[in-house]
Amino acid sequence: AEGLIEGHVGRGTLVKRGSFRPEEDYFDQTTPSWLLGLAANEDSLIGRDTRAVSELTSLKAGEEIISLAQGTPSADMLPADLIQSIMADSSLEAQRSALGYCPVDGLLSLRRQIAARMRTRGVSVDVQNILILSGSTQGLGLLGRFLLSPGDEVVVEVPTYLGAIQMFRALGARIIGIPTDSEGMRVDLLEAILARRQPRFIYTLPTFQNPTGVVMSVERRRRLLQLARRYQVPIVEDDAYGEIYFGEEPSRPLKSLDTYGNVLYLSTYSKMLAPGLRVAWLAAPEPVIERMGLYKQTFDLNTNALGQWIIAELIRRDLLDGHLSRARQCYQHKLNLMLEAIETYWPSGGRVYPPTGGMHLWCRLPHGMRARHLLREAAHERVAFVSGDLFHVDGGGQHYIRLSFASPEEAHISEGIRRIGVAMRRLLAR
Ligand code: PMP
Repeated sequence: AEGLIEGHVGRGTLVKRGSFRPEEDYFDQTTPSWLLGLAANEDSLIGRDTRAVSELTSLKAGEEIISLAQGTPSADMLPADLIQSIMADSSLEAQRSALGYCPVDGLLSLRRQIAARMRTRGVSVDVQNILILSGSTQGLGLLGRFLLSPGDEVVVEVPTYLGAIQMFRALGARIIGIPTDSEGMRVDLLEAILARRQPRFIYTLPTFQNPTGVVMSVERRRRLLQLARRYQVPIVEDDAYGEIYFGEEPSRPLKSLDTYGNVLYLSTYSKMLAPGLRVAWLAAPEPVIERMGLYKQTFDLNTNALGQWIIAELIRRDLLDGHLSRARQCYQHKLNLMLEAIETYWPSGGRVYPPTGGMHLWCRLPHGMRARHLLREAAHERVAFVSGDLFHVDGGGQHYIRLSFASPEEAHISEGIRRIGVAMRRLLAR
């Protein structure tokens, strides 16, 4: 009916030429032909889910739409006031030097500070083990290029961070999913994979996993490290949320248990401070840092120096820890508001998995309800969230959704949840 396939006597039914165009209005008569020619390439490189994500991130929670989709700090937690005070009482000379190029490995003062902070979290690293990155997304891309050739296999958790799935797919990797439960990756299922196949690395989010919020148990962490060592497979640890914990105990990275240099650790200031700063880092053995630094130079010369300088100043003036403790309190409070609202407004029969840190609440929908159906219904109620299937490489997740409790304004949380409840009841009444 949509003209996407055509029948050929003797050849069968085939996808019509040109029907791979992502959207009808994406290209029009004025599109130059060289751009049309790129479309096939683009589809394999970008994919539909990437477009879904870029739509999500550009969807600003306006007055009408309440977005519970993005895992970012809420506007009131962005450290604009701290940055203002730093700018106000630093010299023009210091600011000028922050506006130039900086070493490809990053600002030395920031690398030192990061190494020192990591040591307080039990990771024995020094400045030569730290490479500053333009977002941990850049780290996933650089490590992916370094470790993978098209067709290589990579192990991820199911579910896992969507941006990583997209990155590894864009690099031509074949992705092997390992299920997770309340203790994180099912490491018991990993050995069979490592013994039979040769994945190039294992990608894991051991602390406040995105999307489930789960923390991997210490036993599994140890077992994972043992297996990685035995089969000589590096682990890429993505620790974007580790500093956003709600209990008394600070969380520790998997890398703190790594005595063989098998863990390549990524973290970012996007969640702790602000994604607009685009500053993240890789902590890894020195030879890896050297190679990655050379790669990085080819792609962007260096990470934006102003963002690095601002963060180094925040740390030097001892402002980061205060900010983090406010953020932890704020997000924990918002999580509680969200849980209360779910209790009040949602029909029974579903399940929520309250995390002890991070920014996301993972939910199983009631009575076999499908997340995509709910999303469509919720759009009429002007509320957005992320459908669970986007995080799954095995076709699962249709009955799950991910809600961000960190990014919405406090006043919108209860209303957003109420609207989802209305959409749920409408679906159940059908
Ligand atoms: N890893 C995880 C687990 C994330 O949730 C995100 C942000 N959504 C990133 C990496 C990317 O962060 P950055 O802004 O540092 O590129």
